[in-house]
Amino acid sequence: MSECGSRECAAHGITTILFDLDNTLITTREADVAACEKVASWLENQGMTTEKSWAITKKYLQKFLEAPAPDYPTDQEGLDTWRRNLWKFALPANYQHLGTSVAQWEKVRETGCQKYCSSIVISQDHNVEKPDKALFDVACTQLQVKPRECIMVGDKIETDIKGGKNAGIKITVWLNTRDKIAPNNTQPDFTIQNILDLPTVFRRLPLVLEG
Ligand SMILES: [Mg+2]
Repeated sequence: MSECGSRECAAHGITTILFDLDNTLITTREADVAACEKVASWLENQGMTTEKSWAITKKYLQKFLEAPAPDYPTDQEGLDTWRRNLWKFALPANYQHLGTSVAQWEKVRETGCQKYCSSIVISQDHNVEKPDKALFDVACTQLQVKPRECIMVGDKIETDIKGGKNAGIKITVWLNTRDKIAPNNTQPDFTIQNILDLPTVFRRLPLVLEG
């Protein structure tokens, strides 16, 4: 979350922007593909067939995303151990649906986005996921702001936009990079195709807020 310093926002009582992380602030999908390509190519260099190396890499990525946080410190050494364990063991199917907050915090650290945000809320740390309004309540409480002072920006209609509306967020902005159609029952206030187009939303705020 970061403070919204635009004149247009201030004029409409908007103080805060809430950002989704994956595929909004950082290009997680592309990063996953790039990482998989690297790992698969390494496995191929070890003598594995292309098909097998890709199957293993995809399975690892899936397990990585599903795995719960370890019960030991997640410093660099801890993260290395965690990854080794994921590789070593065939994980049981009854893993929690919620992904691990370790991977999310690692992304936050590696991208350095923390210094631009007043607060960071990882859903797994609070055992609640978007579109549940409770997660937005956590964010607003940490920031000491009301939902009606906030803009929510995210790439997923069913979580970011629906969640923002559930929580009473004043303005929802959908980052639609894949030319999708928003369902009739969950229409964002604004749609942008590139996160860098966000300032154009500020300029168009009066269109929505002043009818
Ligand atoms: Mg996302």
